[in-house]
Amino acid sequence: MLPKNTKTLVESVKEKGPNLDIYRRLFDSILEQRLAPNTKLNEQDLAQVFGVSRTLIRQSLQRLAAEQVVVMHKNRGAYVAAPDVVLAKQILDARELIELAVVELACGALGETEIEALRMMVALEEQAFAQGDMGTALRRSGEFHVRLAQAAGNQPYVNILRGLISQTSLIIAMYGQGEIQCARDEHNDLIKALIAGDKTVCAELMRHHLGHLRTSCDFNRRVKSGSLAMVLS
Ligand SMILES: [Zn+2]
Ligand SMILES: [Zn+2]
Repeated sequence: MLPKNTKTLVESVKEKGPNLDIYRRLFDSILEQRLAPNTKLNEQDLAQVFGVSRTLIRQSLQRLAAEQVVVMHKNRGAYVAAPDVVLAKQILDARELIELAVVELACGALGETEIEALRMMVALEEQAFAQGDMGTALRRSGEFHVRLAQAAGNQPYVNILRGLISQTSLIIAMYGQGEIQCARDEHNDLIKALIAGDKTVCAELMRHHLGHLRTSCDFNRRVKSGSLAMVLS
């Protein structure tokens, strides 16, 4: 017997092509709130719905858990994370801190290859947006920031930021209103500023850019909970 949330899982499979990996499909389902915060993610049911092994499902859930988009509870399994307002604001603060350190490093220090890679990320993001694939557009706008941290050359920043960006996406999905992604044209502005090499301008642009994430959130909004019992303590 499949649980109540299986229907939404089936829909998510239908809406997405068969080539996307399980991690992405689960992530998109969470970001698009087809899987609501606090929903229990049963391995066996997911394996059945996606038509893959439980091992593959477990690996995807572990990756999502490492990014704190999914929370693992001992003996109770995996649930979609649901950061409260305090945690949500702390995540945005932490992200800003890391991203400012990233632009400090990357400003005036990017090579041609890195600049090309960043421009490619912007193009891919535009493409997803033009196709109306908001889940992919949101993920790619996050990948732009990860790519920038990689270009800056500090691996711990990359690792920390990867988790923070996934969590930001979840926060925007939960609390955001209106367009749920980065102000897109600003990625191009950032690239230009990084090439021009003025650290003050780069930091200001990044702070302004991330400020959009904060102002697009309504932290007074009541977050819908999943159909199963709330388990976060
Ligand atoms: Zn951005
Ligand atoms: Zn702006």
